[in-house]
Amino acid sequence: MKRWLHADADMFFAAVEMVKDPSLRGKAVVVGGVNSRHGVVSTASYEARKFGIHSAMPVAVARRLKPDAIFLEGDYAAYQTYSDKMFSLFRQYTSELHVLSIDEADLDITDTIQLFGGEEVLALRLKSDVQSQLGFSISIGVAGTRTVAKIAAAQSKPDGLTIITQGFEKAFLSDLPINVLPGIGKKSEPFFISKGFTKVKDLYGFDMAALTGLFGKYGASLWCMVQGIEEDQTSPSRPSISKEITFEEDITDQNQLISVLDHLSADLGHRLRHEKQEASCLSIKLRYANFKTITRQITLNEPIFSDEQIFYYAKWLLRKESREPVRLLGISVTNLSAGESLFLENQKERAFSKILDTIRDKYGSKTIHRYHDYKDKV
Ligand SMILES: [Mg+2]
Repeated sequence: MKRWLHADADMFFAAVEMVKDPSLRGKAVVVGGVNSRHGVVSTASYEARKFGIHSAMPVAVARRLKPDAIFLEGDYAAYQTYSDKMFSLFRQYTSELHVLSIDEADLDITDTIQLFGGEEVLALRLKSDVQSQLGFSISIGVAGTRTVAKIAAAQSKPDGLTIITQGFEKAFLSDLPINVLPGIGKKSEPFFISKGFTKVKDLYGFDMAALTGLFGKYGASLWCMVQGIEEDQTSPSRPSISKEITFEEDITDQNQLISVLDHLSADLGHRLRHEKQEASCLSIKLRYANFKTITRQITLNEPIFSDEQIFYYAKWLLRKESREPVRLLGISVTNLSAGESLFLENQKERAFSKILDTIRDKYGSKTIHRYHDYKDKV
């Protein structure tokens, strides 16, 4: 049986700001696009959350709620540095690390639990390592599946630890609201409630076929999630889709490389959607002027399909690498699954991608492209 540990930093961007400037500790701190007219909040400290401020809220609204909060533009280079440090601490606890975003990861601890003398000891040591060496707190969930571990971590925020013993997944999920499940967000929650599903346990009476009948392909995932079963490990992974470019001259300028990634992402996204696939793993390939070739990969929580999503993760991976002259740059997506399963959170993204594809199919791939500001370091 597998054991998964999900670790997620608490109010990460605000926490790093507090490490940089300890006088901010205990204060209402808001990080986000505070200097732009339509900026939104990236992270609010728990003290700021007491006033109703939350991420994705317009900064202007946050300013009305708590005018004397400390508003910071965000120091993404520092966040990246602390993220890298945190993940190297994680690697001392397992070699099986799946990075999910800048501040969260899944650790397969199945084979290392014994080395530490138990899950609880391991998890508490990891928490105290991060606290003492980096200066901020993380929340941890441990369970038999990645999904349940993530939900357990979210339930124990901030600075918490929740361990779900094998076999107790259903008991743990039972009374939680349905929106704790991945794929059920603000937009789709009313749909579930209208069908009579408000708590996770409301799904328990339905078998996989019944949930598939109600929610399509997502219904099968839903059934696995709530039964505490890791979905579909047996299905063979399909071939990857990739795209790469060899340059006539080595490129050192980071913005130029990012611009290339942008176009590769558009190409790849188009092909992915054309083949009606979604990808849950993305990697970039870099060949340096000295022919050293590296690949860097990220496993995603939810499958992706849009140019924007591919670009976002490819850029994130690229920014972590050294700035040597690059000869070849490529992106590939793997762990493909039949598309359109994400009818829930991604409707806007899906609709926009369809428009892009229609225009490109008709007038050629270079006719339309989403504008990106490469200096925007998110
Ligand atoms: Mg976090």
